Amino acid sequence: MKNVAILGSTGSIGTQTLDVLRANPDDFSLVAISAGSNITMLEEQIREFHPKLCAVFDEEKALRLKEAVSDVSPQCKIVSGMEGLIEVSTISESDILITAVVGMIGINPTIAAIKAGKDIGLANKETLVTAGHIIIPLARKMQVSILPVDSEHSAIFQCLNGEKGNVIDKILLTASGGPFRGMTKEELLDVTLEMALKHPNWSMGKKITIDSATMVNKGLEVIEAKWLFDVNPSQIEVVVQPQSIIHSMVQYKDGAVIAQLGTPDMRLPIQYALYYPKRVFLKGDRLDFSTLSEITFSKPDMDTFLGLKYAYKAIECGGSMPTVLNAANEYAVARFLNKEIRFLEIYEMIDYCMSCHKNIESPTVSQILETEQWVYETIKSKWSTNS
Ligand code: NDP
Ligand code: MG
Repeated sequence: MKNVAILGSTGSIGTQTLDVLRANPDDFSLVAISAGSNITMLEEQIREFHPKLCAVFDEEKALRLKEAVSDVSPQCKIVSGMEGLIEVSTISESDILITAVVGMIGINPTIAAIKAGKDIGLANKETLVTAGHIIIPLARKMQVSILPVDSEHSAIFQCLNGEKGNVIDKILLTASGGPFRGMTKEELLDVTLEMALKHPNWSMGKKITIDSATMVNKGLEVIEAKWLFDVNPSQIEVVVQPQSIIHSMVQYKDGAVIAQLGTPDMRLPIQYALYYPKRVFLKGDRLDFSTLSEITFSKPDMDTFLGLKYAYKAIECGGSMPTVLNAANEYAVARFLNKEIRFLEIYEMIDYCMSCHKNIESPTVSQILETEQWVYETIKSKWSTNS
């Protein structure tokens, strides 16, 4: 029996993690959950899974949830704010923390969990992008496992099985290309929020869906892969594979390429992280090679989808530059989701912040969070005067 805690239990990854737990009640027990503000869903989760602890970031909502679940027995302790998230990530009963929260808010709870000796099932890529230089050495020191949940990184992780001692020549990180694949810059001028939210293959949270449309997501994944698999960015090649059947590949010295294939279903990487190294039955569709007509490949268009270009630049600069890329993107995407800016302005905001940032070589967590604030202020002052 493994005890599981979840950061972001109400989101796309969070609820799919609960699907895996629900299907395997003898193997897992849910001990702690958390979310930003969705107390309706948290209440349902408390009534179904009876966790010991639940954190709601929003303090007022936490009080309302406390009242709503006062009849549940055994009682679930309700906490709030960043302290509450850290309590969830470090709860003594847990063996593994699934980081399914979106954005840099995950940095401190993830670091606290590693310090408390918890294994991490990592979906929250923004944390690794901004603080990979702190998290990876800390995990090594604490001897905890960082198990990738992102589908590409789980695929790479699976392709590394049994290859201990063999050096990776290249990681082939696959990308669907998103809903706007093949479009020109001119065509992107007029795309709407509704169009950007229609991902061809995956159903995900809104922020990552927009990141897929800009290809910033793939850029963040390049940085994520660098930290998880200890490779140089030049060894990570993005390959567009629009059908999302190949989830990524590893090329070895002898030229052999090992790939992981499957239907687009996030429960597989989630389950793999939870059960690693064991494979168990997962209900769902299987690939049918008798009806699968084609798997196609192409190069990403980095001059149109600048997200990838900015990520390679950020990783080359290192230090606080990936934080600038990530924070500017988080801010810009939030404004795009509010219909306050156009699609291409997301790139403009990232570019502007990256070009005027004074890089900090090996930022501490405080410096990362200060850089995040600097990015927000920088965009606010520039865009409020211009728009
Ligand atoms: P969602 O938007 O669906 O869910 C986000 C979760 O984070 C929700 O539970 C939300 O709570 C919670 N949250 C937001 N703000 C806070 C806060 N301040 N404090 C505590 N909790 C908060 O996102 P996804 O599930 O799509 O993505 C989660 C992470 O996983 C992201 O980093 C993403 O890049 C990564 N990922 C996602 C994939 C997917 O298929 N969805 C695939 C690969 C990686 P509330 O509901 O209350 O707002
Ligand atoms: Mg991915």
